[in-house]
Amino acid sequence: MNSIRVHKTGGPEVLRIEEIPDPTPGPGELLVNIEAIGVNFIEIYQREGLYTVPRPFTPGSEAAGTVRALGTGVTEFKVGDRVVSQSMRGAYASRAVVPAERAVKIPDGVTTKAAAASFLQGLTAHYLATSTYPLRQGESCLVHAAAGGVGLLLCQIAKMRGAFVIGTASTPEKLELARGAGADETINYTTRDFAAEARRITNDVGVAVVYDSVGRTTFEGSLNALRRRGMLALFGQSSGPVPPLDPQILNRKGSLFLTRPTLNDYVATREELVQRSNELFGWVRDGLLKVTIGAEFPLVRAADAHRALASRKTTGKVILVP
Ligand code: NDP
Repeated sequence: MNSIRVHKTGGPEVLRIEEIPDPTPGPGELLVNIEAIGVNFIEIYQREGLYTVPRPFTPGSEAAGTVRALGTGVTEFKVGDRVVSQSMRGAYASRAVVPAERAVKIPDGVTTKAAAASFLQGLTAHYLATSTYPLRQGESCLVHAAAGGVGLLLCQIAKMRGAFVIGTASTPEKLELARGAGADETINYTTRDFAAEARRITNDVGVAVVYDSVGRTTFEGSLNALRRRGMLALFGQSSGPVPPLDPQILNRKGSLFLTRPTLNDYVATREELVQRSNELFGWVRDGLLKVTIGAEFPLVRAADAHRALASRKTTGKVILVP
C-alpha cells in the first residue's frame, strides 16, 4: 500500500510516499481502505519534531473509508461498513488500522469525504460549544480563526444554540466566510484591536466565552475581551505557545476562568464518542451543519497540504485523498 513515511523530522519535504506492506488488524481492530484523510495541525508539530513520535512513522490519525478486514473479537462492524475515526494509526496511507472502539459508522446521507472532513474538528466544535462552555440562548461568544476548520463549524454550532457570535480572521475573504457560517459580527484581528472591538460590540460588557485556537498572539486580548467571570477556552496554538502566566491575572481581569481542553478528554469513553458523533452527523445529514472542504490534495502531495495549512492560506478543512 501507499504510505507517507517520516524518517527524519523537518520541513514539509520530509513527507515522502513509500510502498509498504499492509498493516494487519490485531484483536479488536479494523483494517480500513482509506478514501479521505483529515489534515490537522498536530501532524505539523509531529513532522517538525515539536511533539516526539518514534521514527520512521506514518503521520495522521483522522480518516474515513471502508472496512476491509476485521481482527478477532470485533462484533460491532462488518467488512464493507463505511467508518470514520480520529484514532487511525498512520492515516496518511491507502490503508490503516484502528481500534474498533474508536471507530464510528458513517450514517447514510453523509458522504465518506464529508465524514473525514468534519470528524475531528466537528467533535472539537461540539465539545467546546456544548460541554466546555455550554452556550445558552442570547449569550455572546468570540471565535478566533473563524474561517478555519474548527472555526467555521464552531460558528454554526454556536448559532444553532442561539448565541451571539463574533468571529475573527485575517482577511476580508475569510471574514465573509465566517459571516456565511453565521457570525453576527466579524473583526480582522490583524488590523484591529479585537478585544476593544468585542467590548464595543457588547456595550463594554465583554463576551461570555472566547474559543481561542490561535494562542500566543491572541491570548492576552482574549482575556481582555471577556465579561466578568467569563471563560477563556484555549484549545490550540496555531500562532505558537502561550508563555507561562501568573494566575493572579485571572482575578485582576474579573475572576476569569481559563481552561486548556483537548478532544481526547471529551470522547474518552465509547459512549461519549458515539453520542457526540451521532449528534454531529445528524446535523450534517440534515443540512444544519455545512462542511467546507477548503483544499483537497492527493496523498502524494501531503507536503503541499502542510505548507498550505501552516501558511494560513486555507479555509475550512484540508483533506488528502489516497
Ligand atoms: P485552522 O483551519 O483554524 O487553521 C489555523 C488558522 O489559524 C489559520 O488559517 C489562521 O487563520 C489562524 N492563525 C493565526 N495566526 C496564525 C499563524 N501564526 N500561523 C498559522 N495560522 C494562524 O486549523 P484547525 O481548525 O485544524 O485547528 C485550529 C487549532 O485548533 C490548531 O491549533 C489545532 O491544533 C487546534 N485543535 C485543538 C483541538 C483540541 O481538542 N484541543 C482539536 C482540534 C484542533 P487566519 O488567517 O484567519 O488568522
